Amino acid sequence: MYIVSGCLLGHNCKYNGGNNANEEVIKFCETHRHVAVCPECAGKLPTPRPPAEIRGPRVINIEGKNVTEEFRIGAEISLNTALQLARITGEEIEGAILKANSPSCGYGQIYDGTFTGTLTEGNGIFAEMLHGEGIEIITEKETIKW
Ligand code: SF4
Repeated sequence: MYIVSGCLLGHNCKYNGGNNANEEVIKFCETHRHVAVCPECAGKLPTPRPPAEIRGPRVINIEGKNVTEEFRIGAEISLNTALQLARITGEEIEGAILKANSPSCGYGQIYDGTFTGTLTEGNGIFAEMLHGEGIEIITEKETIKW
């Protein structure tokens, strides 16, 4: 079973109310068991919502509000949902396909907290949590290797 960012499958959970539908990811998920999650929605943030970026130890939205706790709780809920589903169905979590550069789902590179579109090294809150669980992560920018 694979964990997938919901917005990559066309779910309108992106901060602006849209999605990041990706044909390759959608096609992959037609033939592979997966669980779609949106950690920011799971953290009870509304959609649409002000964009947020990681700045040091916190997640701050463009209005200056600290949304670290919502991001953290949403990431935990999303991870636990996937782990529970895998346990119930007796499957392994084989990997995760996450949305690049997001403060939740980004892996390897994220926006730098200045809201200027500048990327820096780092992982989103959810991606970091999955990484800590030893789950292999790719983003939609890479060719799906599974
Ligand atoms: S939190 Fe992840 S799944 Fe949700 S909209 Fe952002 S990138 Fe997509």
